[in-house]
Amino acid sequence: MILESGRIAEMATLWEELEPREIVAAALDLFGDRITIASSFGLEDVALIHMATSVAKGPIDVFCLDTEVLFPETYALMNRFSESYAIRLRRVVPEFSLAQQIERYGEELWARDPDQCCKLRKVEPLGRALQGYDAWVTGLRRAQGPTRQNAKAVEPDARHGLTKVNPLVRWSDEQLWAYVRAEEVPYNPLHERGYPSIGCIHCTRAVSPGEDPRAGRWAGFAKTECGLHL
Ligand code: SF4
Repeated sequence: MILESGRIAEMATLWEELEPREIVAAALDLFGDRITIASSFGLEDVALIHMATSVAKGPIDVFCLDTEVLFPETYALMNRFSESYAIRLRRVVPEFSLAQQIERYGEELWARDPDQCCKLRKVEPLGRALQGYDAWVTGLRRAQGPTRQNAKAVEPDARHGLTKVNPLVRWSDEQLWAYVRAEEVPYNPLHERGYPSIGCIHCTRAVSPGEDPRAGRWAGFAKTECGLHL
């Protein structure tokens, strides 16, 4: 069901008051098998999968944009979730393998033109991942930084013509950690080694206490977003 922007705006006001698990349940109820969860297996994503599988009647559709340059810890966590949670996990890979990307664009494109690299390895695959769906669920939170301060619990995704649901939008870091710990949700061990936000291995570094949580992404470039949520 493709929703009109007026209806989405009404829902955003109503859902702003709901708890994240209630938003997940309402979204699954509304969109049925026409909704999918985007997961990079960061802290937000593991919490969302845990919530969704706890309220869903059957397996949940989850996709991961596998850039083929993720951390070994991320791949291990992905396998663990695949084996122990009721999810149908799709690993969506770029059109070009790494070898093909090097052939066409040269070595280490991420170090020279990360926008182009993200376009090839994340943005284009996202479009394919969302084909056939009416809505997707993301782990966007306002506390993640200035670029995310205007996110709503539910909002139109004009680029793909879909509805985007952000159940954790109001949660602080502390609330997210409290949920993950209380529910004993498996999480990426890199979070405890200074990585609040975990992306590709070449574009993520640990941050110091008090630093912007997203400062560890694309260090040395003005870039702060991969383009998935722009
Ligand atoms: S995060 Fe880095 S390696 Fe990953 S797709 Fe973007 S530029 Fe390429």
